[in-house]
Amino acid sequence: PGPQEPHDPTKKTLVVLGSGWGATSLLESLDTEEYNVFVISPRNYFLFTPLLPSVATGTLSAKSIIQPTRYMTRHKKRQVTVIEASATDVDPVNKIVQFKDTSEVQGLVSSTAMKYDYLVYAVGAETQTFNIPGVRENACFMKELDDAERMQRRFLDCLESAAFPGQSKEEVDRLLHMVVVGGGPTGVELSGELHDFLEDDLRSWYPELVDSIKITLVEALPSVLPMFSKQLIDYTESTFKEAKIDIMTKTMVKEIKEKSVVLQMPDRSIREVPCGMVVWAAGNTLRGVTRELMAKLPNEQTNRRGITVDESLRMKGADGIFAIGDCTATSYAPTAQVAAQEGAYLARVFKQLAKRDALRAELEELKGQTAPEGEQERKVRVETLESQVAKTDKTRPFKYSHQGSLAYIGSDKAIADLPFFSSGNLATAGVATYLFWRSAYLSKLFSLRNRALVANDWIKVKIFGRDVSRE
Ligand code: FAD
Ligand code: NAD
Repeated sequence: PGPQEPHDPTKKTLVVLGSGWGATSLLESLDTEEYNVFVISPRNYFLFTPLLPSVATGTLSAKSIIQPTRYMTRHKKRQVTVIEASATDVDPVNKIVQFKDTSEVQGLVSSTAMKYDYLVYAVGAETQTFNIPGVRENACFMKELDDAERMQRRFLDCLESAAFPGQSKEEVDRLLHMVVVGGGPTGVELSGELHDFLEDDLRSWYPELVDSIKITLVEALPSVLPMFSKQLIDYTESTFKEAKIDIMTKTMVKEIKEKSVVLQMPDRSIREVPCGMVVWAAGNTLRGVTRELMAKLPNEQTNRRGITVDESLRMKGADGIFAIGDCTATSYAPTAQVAAQEGAYLARVFKQLAKRDALRAELEELKGQTAPEGEQERKVRVETLESQVAKTDKTRPFKYSHQGSLAYIGSDKAIADLPFFSSGNLATAGVATYLFWRSAYLSKLFSLRNRALVANDWIKVKIFGRDVSRE
């Protein structure tokens, strides 16, 4: 089928690709009265990624950290159309986006196209595997909700298989060796959460096995958490040491087999280590659809890290496309904080664009008119409109305001690098920082409903412990 017509032809069509941090923050502040707004995303919900490792270990339930996108859009002034589909192609010249229903159940129509006036490209990134053999087949990821649920099942399966009667000591050790690859914040937070699960709950549920459980964090660089200050890196390393989480730095994973992981050690020797589960948290790479879009603009889009945007987040070389979040290559880190601020900024830009477009339309109409009696007045009005259009043409550049970096490291401890006045940096760590981490994340959740669910889960786990049933 050909491009669909927008539902109100007098309004411009704004298509938002994605329902993650960038897109949701935009939708939260966007004045939908000015546009026909369509949201296209394969996920019909927003996922609060910072708490994903807590789902993987059963501290939080999956539903507590997601919010249906319709929950947000139904409260908007004008209807927003939410479509559960993946964008498969963007034509930046004819301004058409193709999309496809990639879910399990499909109707008679499962792919179509839509014309846009403005496109907000916020599809995020996917997990980087560096094409290392066995990663896709044998490791769990930690990016989407499914990944966390899969990891939880695998972890509990390893425990139950280790508890199977007659298992040799060697096999028990293998099954209970959990390897986390990537010493960035995802890998560190997950290792900390696994340790909590072990200490708080598994010690009483599987007393005969618990001392055989081993957590190893493998990092290719000389230290974990390179984005944090030295003092917090040291603090994390010593907390992990106490928690008996092994950190192997300068060690690179070369292959993941069904029952082992192949490591290149600091002295470049190769060692094969048996394990029951590998979690792959080795960073981001671009999605195929983003690469293809960039390839259509070979002169302007040359950065292999992501989409190049100007200071107003417009994709270079494309008319009407704005790109935000993890799919872009900017001087900012690929974080939720950046994506959310960019989304909120774009909501303001669209307000201004709506004003400019209305002024332009009035100007065009006036220019086409002749008014023999009021010619002077018409001319004055045209001049006024022209200067107003010129003013609204200029958008204030996006400016990121860093609120600090926070990470949970297990054992009821968190680390925080916080900007202190204009120049300094305040590095804090420990139990108080952990309480700050909890309250900060609770307040950052987009809805009261999610806040209540997360707080309730925390209380539930405190009273009853984590659930060890394998769903
Ligand atoms: P995302 O939030 O990933 O959203 C992308 C959206 O696009 C999704 O809805 C996806 O379904 C959709 N999509 C995918 N393909 C298509 C397609 N073809 N067409 C249309 N839509 C598509 N950052 C922090 O600042 N603090 C933290 O504590 C933190 N913790 C994290 C913990 C984990 C486990 C992870 C994985 C990340 C964490 N991050 C954190 C990073 C943060 O989640 C990302 O930087 C952020 O999600 C980027 O926002 P985004 O909108 O660009 O992409
Ligand atoms: P990352 O890119 O920060 O870290 C991945 C790590 O994996 C790197 O240190 C890399 O050296 C290592 N690695 C890659 N290949 C390897 C291999 N073969 N063997 C061993 N190590 C290997 O990825 P992340 O932790 O998923 O974070 C992604 C983004 O999300 C970052 O910008 C991060 O700041 C953000 N994030 C922030 C928080 C937080 O603030 N609490 C939490 C999670 C993620």
